[in-house]
Amino acid sequence: IGALSRHRDFEQSKLIRGKYPIFSDVASVLGDPQVRNMGTIGGALAHADPASDWGTALLALEAELIARGPKGTRTIPIDRFFKDPFTTALRSSELLTEIRVPKSEPGDGGAYLKLKRKTGDFATIGVAVQLGLDAKRNVAGVRIGLAVGPTPIRATGAEKALIGRKAGPTAFADAAKLASEGGHPASDLRGSEDYKRAMIEVFTRRALETATARAGR
Ligand SMILES: Cc1cc2nc3c(=O)[nH]c(=O)nc-3n(C[C@H](O)[C@H](O)[C@H](O)COP(=O)(O)OP(=O)(O)OC[C@H]3O[C@@H](n4cnc5c(N)ncnc54)[C@H](O)[C@@H]3O)c2cc1C
Repeated sequence: IGALSRHRDFEQSKLIRGKYPIFSDVASVLGDPQVRNMGTIGGALAHADPASDWGTALLALEAELIARGPKGTRTIPIDRFFKDPFTTALRSSELLTEIRVPKSEPGDGGAYLKLKRKTGDFATIGVAVQLGLDAKRNVAGVRIGLAVGPTPIRATGAEKALIGRKAGPTAFADAAKLASEGGHPASDLRGSEDYKRAMIEVFTRRALETATARAGR
């Protein structure tokens, strides 16, 4: 994906909606129509707002970011891209040129859900799930991204708890609880820490359900 792709491109692409619905999820809840018409995925990643919708979703997707500078081109795994609020691994002389995501395989599904106070707001909390199910509907792989602190983070405890388990309400409830216990949600004008933790639990469960339905197994 070229870094200059606008949010609107993802919102409107039938190809993206069919293969990577998680991108369409992000683009349809990010900002408002004016922001989506002008903003780019590369600009949003380089800006690195703590509540970045793209950062959270691309963490779940295990994206690789391609940076180009005077010394050539290098690949930055998304897990090492966000350093602090508004601070990334990009050097001052580098441009982000591409975003690469693994090919979607049969049994894969993803979803991004965002809680916001109103259209145009950044996330109170956001949850991204990308999972792969085997033929028996057991979770073969899963990554969960959370927008809930100084930078997008992964809910690694919840991910570990899901591996090998049957995709369904019991496993999802356990994982959602673990996701809500991690991270460092701060009380702010968008909600208290307790409220954010409660919403992470609800939205993680729902994102797991949607991702599973999309996995088609
Ligand atoms: C009102 C409003 C609401 C918003 N709501 C949300 C939201 O809900 N969720 C969300 O995730 N985002 C939101 N955004 C951010 C939005 O996603 C924009 O994409 C983001 O502001 C970056 O804008 P831009 O793409 O035009 O980049 P610019 O504003 O042009 O650039 C942003 C920064 O990144 C640098 N930069 C840009 N492109 C690159 C590149 N390829 N390589 C290296 N550095 C680069 C620029 O030098 C600059 O420092 C919102 C923005 C606004 C103004």
